[in-house]
Amino acid sequence: MSDIFRCPIDGSKFIKKWVCEKGHTFSEVDGIIDLLTEDIKSEKILDIIAPIYESVWAPFGLLITSGKSYSYITRKAGEMISGTIVLDIGTGTGKIFDYVKCEICMGLDISYKFLKILKDKRPNVVAVRGNALKLPFADESIDGISAMFVLHMFPSVLVAVREINRVLKHGKKCVATILTKNNMISQFLATIWGLKIHSVDYYIKIFEEVGLKVDYEKIGAWTFFTCAKP
Ligand SMILES: [Zn+2]
Repeated sequence: MSDIFRCPIDGSKFIKKWVCEKGHTFSEVDGIIDLLTEDIKSEKILDIIAPIYESVWAPFGLLITSGKSYSYITRKAGEMISGTIVLDIGTGTGKIFDYVKCEICMGLDISYKFLKILKDKRPNVVAVRGNALKLPFADESIDGISAMFVLHMFPSVLVAVREINRVLKHGKKCVATILTKNNMISQFLATIWGLKIHSVDYYIKIFEEVGLKVDYEKIGAWTFFTCAKP
């Protein structure tokens, strides 16, 4: 499995757990592989509500902003990206892995607090603390990628999508559910979260720019994007 991983600093292979060819050393604590190279802060509010994220926050929040249930959207995404090696970016508690069929199932997040919950609830999922803008994985190493409810929070969507495209194998799929400029609810959410949100077209352009084929479906304030690497 460590074949899939690359040093987030220089992209070299790991010669052992977790020392890269150039000698950078990373730690694994409580089953969480920590490959974060800088101290990136997660959304404060999310860290506070982490213990009730999966049971209350996401189900309630999505129902009123999308009209669909959290499990419906997550299942739809999970079934699409099933494959041997699957990566969920911004995985949180790793809920999607209830619906993904995978042999190596990896959840990436910057929040140690969320990854700890993931590891307690779903011990089979490989928990990786890392930066989505600098994915610690080899080129074309992954069979399916999801990024649920996260891309609208990123400082650079283009870099994140370019990274998804880089690590995804040819002929494989990705999914992303993004808060987009759809209606008054999305504007309202953007205001209370202090986010600058974009149109569906903005994201389509980015997916296409990096070479991914993209399709979408609006779900209330959110848009469910499916992408594929030709
Ligand atoms: Zn290194």
